[in-house]
Amino acid sequence: MSAEMTGFAYLIASVLFILALRGLSSPDTARMGSRYGIIGMTIAVGTTLLDPSVVSFELIMLGILIGGTIGTVVARKIEMTALPQLVAAFHSLVGLAAVFVATAAFYNPEAYGIGERGDIKIASVIEMSLGLAIGAITFSGSIIAFAKLQGLMSGNPITFPMQHLVNGLIGLAIVVFVIMLTSVQSAGVFWTLAALSFAIGFLLIIPIGGADMPVVVSMLNSYSGWAACGIGFTLANPALIVTGALVGSSGAILSYIMCKGMNRSMISVLLGGFGGDPGKSVNVSMLNQNAKSGAADDAAFLMRNASKVIIVPGYGMAVAQAQHAVREMADLLKAEGVDVSYAIHPVAGRMPGHMNVLMAEANVPYDEVFEMEEINHEFSTADVAYVIGANDTTNPVAKTDPSSPIAGMPILDVDKSGTILFVKRSLSPGYAGVDNPLFYADNTMMLFGDAKIMTEKIAQALA
Ligand code: NDP
Repeated sequence: MSAEMTGFAYLIASVLFILALRGLSSPDTARMGSRYGIIGMTIAVGTTLLDPSVVSFELIMLGILIGGTIGTVVARKIEMTALPQLVAAFHSLVGLAAVFVATAAFYNPEAYGIGERGDIKIASVIEMSLGLAIGAITFSGSIIAFAKLQGLMSGNPITFPMQHLVNGLIGLAIVVFVIMLTSVQSAGVFWTLAALSFAIGFLLIIPIGGADMPVVVSMLNSYSGWAACGIGFTLANPALIVTGALVGSSGAILSYIMCKGMNRSMISVLLGGFGGDPGKSVNVSMLNQNAKSGAADDAAFLMRNASKVIIVPGYGMAVAQAQHAVREMADLLKAEGVDVSYAIHPVAGRMPGHMNVLMAEANVPYDEVFEMEEINHEFSTADVAYVIGANDTTNPVAKTDPSSPIAGMPILDVDKSGTILFVKRSLSPGYAGVDNPLFYADNTMMLFGDAKIMTEKIAQALA
């Protein structure tokens, strides 16, 4: 393939990636967006394989076989609720790939056409060291995010004295070592830069917890894009540069949107550790109160006699895979003339858009699904809020306790509705570990049980 043809094919692939992102911005066009992405990626990989500088295919095929097999097995087995940690794990691999490419280029620059060992072109050294540093930060940061989301370590912020000073000094040292590497191209400088970057990735993520985790997942997504972009320069591959920049910038925009939705400043999330002490927010007096509980028949009676019901899905609905049962219940209510809509909090579940995906899977009409800011004012006119497996995203402590890990996070105002039905298995707190006083409110009825089983029972009672 001639250089012109290669460039043209990469251009087509890049355009398809842009169309894919555009398509993914709405549930109506998401399937088409995915198709554009698949076609774009096939063109990009195919073009790369046809590059005349690829002299042997054995190792490439072996890599595709091993990676493809692992990816297929994992993707088929993974539970929907474990997707965020899977995404974090995949981000860590992108970071590690950037570190490997930078290492290969550093030890064998001739193969990359960027100079000779110890005498690499300055521009290439800068590109390579940025790929190395961002890749290493992405790798160790994603490992910590994975461990927190998988429950292998506490999801609470881990802080220590002078944390910001230590992070600041390491950040400064990274800049100094990048500059040093342009003149002293020794293995010692290279590996010190790598070690500092691994360390800062780890230190940046451990103090982040509670309501800030969703922003971290999307920030790491952005970092993985910039790491790929950095490798793209080292490999002189325009498709990788464009794709990396697309992932990097869209991840950064998503993080910004999530920060706005969560009422957080980007800087305080990035610096971490401003979440407060989660232990303080557990209100002991609340634990002595009694929560009223009811059965499926009571819930069916209340909702059948309501004129407006708002369904609030959360992480527990995803765990129970209750989305189909919820839609069935909603259909029965609509048949009785009840006005049913769905309220989606920006960080409900465990990944951005988690609830939207589940609602789409259950074929819930898009015009019944509303984002928080569109529907929050409607709770005051709703007879029933059916809160299924959601907790933190409805917790009024976010408004009242500045020391809580969810302080300042906007919530769905379910407390304004006539009756709140909470479907969950116990009075346990949600992801952020904060007790929810709404369980004990006068207008609350707890429906203890698995979200799917309880909803199916309500649907049976309605039918
Ligand atoms: P929460 O994590 O606050 O609460 C989920 C509730 O679901 C739990 O209290 C649990 O209670 C209940 N539950 C679990 N399994 C079941 C089941 N089988 N049936 C019924 N209920 C069940 O969920 P929200 O969606 O309200 O909030 C999301 C939280 O996750 C926020 O704190 C957010 O910051 C965080 N987060 C979000 C991310 C994102 O991108 N969206 C990423 C990372 C974190 P019980 O055990 O009593 O049943």
